[in-house]
Amino acid sequence: MKFSIQSRNDQVSNELAQRAKQYLCDFGLEFDDEEPEIVLSVGGDGTLLHAFHKYSHRLDETAFVGIHTGHLGFYADWKPSEIEKLVISIARHSYEVIEYPLLQVTINAENEAESTTYLALNESTIKSPGVTLVVDVELNGRLFERFRGDGLCMSTPSGSTAYSKSLGGAIIHPSLPAMQLTEMASINNRVFRTVGSPLVLPDHHRCVLTPVQGPDFMLTVDHLQLLHKGVRSIEYRVANEKVRFARFRPFPFWERVHDSFVSSDS
Ligand code: NAD
Repeated sequence: MKFSIQSRNDQVSNELAQRAKQYLCDFGLEFDDEEPEIVLSVGGDGTLLHAFHKYSHRLDETAFVGIHTGHLGFYADWKPSEIEKLVISIARHSYEVIEYPLLQVTINAENEAESTTYLALNESTIKSPGVTLVVDVELNGRLFERFRGDGLCMSTPSGSTAYSKSLGGAIIHPSLPAMQLTEMASINNRVFRTVGSPLVLPDHHRCVLTPVQGPDFMLTVDHLQLLHKGVRSIEYRVANEKVRFARFRPFPFWERVHDSFVSSDS
């Protein structure tokens, strides 16, 4: 089996990554940075986001697993002390693969022939390069609202515990093929009105944002920050692609939520 390792690049992560690489090679696995079947991410959730984007062109053939060298992560849920156990399980192929939904973001340019598509593991946010973002929000081809405020965030179910949660979004179990739209400081008064609640959309729905004031946007896709100029529309849908995680032992989602946000004592 071919494997690759993504490190956060601090000293602790690099040393652990080096040990993992040596162990896996000793077990006869082949290091292949181009076409790995399994990718070990060593660092935090951000490291796994980097690994995901590096291999997002071959998600069908790649499974991810994350070791955390800082605090417990949602994607990086293995402890450094479990490395030997993890390596043996990889070498024996004794793991299950679980799939989580992703978000597809399509940016259509004013020039109708051009469009750019991204896949997000956590979320995509949109802000204006100016002070206030003003966009029309269409759901399934119908105008839903005119949004005025700091920005909007569309998240995946597994991203619902990240930025979206800080914006008051619900936590969504990643077995649900859905996406969630949350507001960032919408302007609501007698003149301007938005729904004010997060919206959870199923996988056959589309959400399209069209500019009202200026066609330039600051966009994030997970950790990536992008400036898109001359935008005609931004379309969100649940992607056909899924991310695959190698699961070596049960660590149910709600337990991870509990250990990360409620208490890690029990
Ligand atoms: P990072 O790796 O420092 O991540 C920031 C924090 O988000 C870390 O504590 C990380 O563990 C946590 N995190 C990431 N994905 C998570 C998930 N799915 N569930 C729960 N926690 C998660 O920084 P980065 O590499 O720039 O990561 C980018 C991510 O940071 C974005 O995808 C976004 O979700 C998050 N972020 C959060 C806020 C906020 O909560 N106000 C603001 C900006 C970005």
